[in-house]
Amino acid sequence: MENDFIIKCIDSVAQCIIDREDEIESLDRAIGDGDHYINIKRGSSALQSIKPELEDIPTNEIFKKIGMTLMTSVGGASGPLFASFFLSVSKHIEEGDNLQKFSQAFALGVESIMQRGKSKLGDKTMLDVLIPVSEKLKVLADDSYEIKELTKQIDLVAQASVKATKDLLPTKGRAAGLADRAIGHIDPGAKTCQLIISTICYELNKT
Ligand code: ADP
Ligand code: MG
Repeated sequence: MENDFIIKCIDSVAQCIIDREDEIESLDRAIGDGDHYINIKRGSSALQSIKPELEDIPTNEIFKKIGMTLMTSVGGASGPLFASFFLSVSKHIEEGDNLQKFSQAFALGVESIMQRGKSKLGDKTMLDVLIPVSEKLKVLADDSYEIKELTKQIDLVAQASVKATKDLLPTKGRAAGLADRAIGHIDPGAKTCQLIISTICYELNKT
């Protein structure tokens, strides 16, 4: 994975978050406490400010720096969860890894969120996008799919998974207190994960 590409994704994701402010904020206002946009925006701006430090370091160090930066800049439940994903990936990724290796590191990153959040598939959280995406990525990488087809399929899984969080009963995080009153609403963390994944797919398609 090229440093330049990761830096490009940091900017694109930051822009995407800003573009979708109203949507992200209203989702967390509906079933959370309304701060998810602020939390994510703070994290993406912090990542933009460390871009120069990411230019000439090994891939695992990039993921580590991203994780540490998110840990210290993003508040709420989502900050430490996003941070643990990147810190875990940093431990399992090496310079020049192919997509298969990356998909394994991604899966371990998702697992570290599950451990930290004591959460699983179906809890109506970010994991309801990340787990299906991780599973699809593993299958597509193992089958050596072309990047164009792979990004298209990953994007479709992310879009379908985020929509499906609407019907789920929340059992973790702030939304859990609302019980079935949260049904009919998309989970905000799942939405930001989908936006991040779709943005990276879009950028990958341009390479
Ligand atoms: P907070 O809930 O503390 O206000 P945010 O609003 O930034 O933090 O993030 C809320 C999102 O975090 C939720 O929409 C959900 O996707 C995710 N989340 C919360 N708790 C957990 C958990 N235990 N496991 C996985 N994801 C979680
Ligand atoms: Mg919140």
